[in-house]
Amino acid sequence: MKCPFCHHEDTQVLDTRVSEEGDAIRRRRRCIHCDKRFTTYERIELMMPVIVKKNGSRAEFDPAKLRASLMLALRKRPVSAEAVDEAIHRIEEKLLSSGAREVVSGQIGELVMRELKRLDKIAYIRFASVYKSFEDVAEFQDAIAEVRQERKSTRQ
Ligand SMILES: [Zn+2]
Repeated sequence: MKCPFCHHEDTQVLDTRVSEEGDAIRRRRRCIHCDKRFTTYERIELMMPVIVKKNGSRAEFDPAKLRASLMLALRKRPVSAEAVDEAIHRIEEKLLSSGAREVVSGQIGELVMRELKRLDKIAYIRFASVYKSFEDVAEFQDAIAEVRQERKSTRQ
C-alpha cells in the first residue's frame, strides 16, 4: 500500500481490527519513509453480474425490472407482497453468490420461473408462456401437465 503523503511504496501495519459492523477490516498503517500514519479499510465486494441479452448486448441488472416482470405474472393472484420480496431476494442472492461477472438473460428467466412455480402455478404458466413463447399448443400443454403432476405429488 502506497503512502498517501509521500507515495513511498512501503508501509507498516500497526494495527488490524474488524469494524464494529463486522463487514470491513480496518488497518492502521505507518509509512516507513515519512512516518505519517493513515488507515485503510478492506471490504467485501459483491457485484451483480452483467446481464447478457439474447442479441449479445449487455445491460446492468435492474431489480425494478425483475420486480415488474414478477408482478405482471402475479397480477390479481393471491400472493403477498412479502412473498414476492422474498422471491426477489432469493434470485438476487443466487446471482450474487454465483460470483459470475456475466449471466445470460435466460438464466434469470429460469430463476424467475423457479420462484413463480413455488409461489403460484397460474403466475408460473403466465410467465412461462410469454417467456418461453411456446411454439405450439403441445408445448403449452406440457407445461400445464408438468404443474398438475407436481401438484399431485405434493398432495401425496
Ligand atoms: Zn510516507
